[in-house]
Amino acid sequence: MRCRTCGSQAVINMPQHRLALCKEHYLAWLPAQIERDIARFNMADKTDRILVAVSGGKDSLALWDMLTLLGYQSDGLYINLGIDGGLAYSSLSGKYAQAFADQRGLKLITVNLAETCHESLPEMAARTLRGRNKTCSLCGLVKRHILNRIAVEGNYDALATGHNLDDEVAILLANTLEWSFARLSRGKPLLPSGPGFARKIKPFCRVYEREAAAYSILRAIPYMPDECPHSVGSKQLYFKTYLNEWEQQMAGTKLRFYNNYLKALDDGAFPDGQAAPENLMAQRCPSCGQPTTNSGLCSFCTLISNR
Ligand code: AMP
Ligand code: ZN
Ligand code: ZN
Repeated sequence: MRCRTCGSQAVINMPQHRLALCKEHYLAWLPAQIERDIARFNMADKTDRILVAVSGGKDSLALWDMLTLLGYQSDGLYINLGIDGGLAYSSLSGKYAQAFADQRGLKLITVNLAETCHESLPEMAARTLRGRNKTCSLCGLVKRHILNRIAVEGNYDALATGHNLDDEVAILLANTLEWSFARLSRGKPLLPSGPGFARKIKPFCRVYEREAAAYSILRAIPYMPDECPHSVGSKQLYFKTYLNEWEQQMAGTKLRFYNNYLKALDDGAFPDGQAAPENLMAQRCPSCGQPTTNSGLCSFCTLISNR
């Protein structure tokens, strides 16, 4: 396989783009795609201060690396959830994130859940008896709350996560199977800010997981190789397995599914999507002040107040 640009040995073949590239041209091509998508979806410009949510994994570290190279101003935020799983999952992930920041002289904010909320995520999960499969949704709730809080308190213009195309289509498939119009209406890679609500952006929304992995490896970025121990057996991984099979048979399936979904959103297929987050969440939590759909405490404050 030869690089389309220079004809030398290719390091990656992307049948979905009918494109093979060498290391040099791949490392130029992917950031250019990201810059284009950031502009196309109006996610951010170079005057914005971006808070990058970094998990220590390949996607978020590749994203932080690229945003920095492209000249965006950014700080990182790592949440130590206190997940052990026999391999000190959280503390090890945090070390990768910190090492990345130190090497580049970037600022990494770390929030330790056990210190700020007096409980680790597994302790919260055990207390609320949500069971194994619900741990991921509890984790999502906790992360969303903390990421938003730090982004708002720090006056960041945008909060960027490393969600890649594989993540987005797995969620899209789950929401489609449920015909959850409310969720389907909020799947855009940009959610605008509102009072108490930071702008949320997903610059990697059209990057295949293997493209992000290849970028991290080629840029020699050390990252946490293991999946979260709680994700084993999760619905999301199950859907990813099927989507990968379909992609194998029909190159570009994931990208078409996502692109056509964005087009359907633009065509008004899910009209709730036009509603601003502050309208969807008109109430404020009396404890933390974050917007919420609940009439009393938000879901996060309910969770920690029941201790
Ligand atoms: P996940 O929820 O594990 O699929 O991760 C999706 C994105 O959320 C990652 O790419 C990160 O941007 C962000 N994220 C996940 N875990 C953490 C964490 N512990 N701290 C900060 N950001 C995180
Ligand atoms: Zn080349
Ligand atoms: Zn609250």
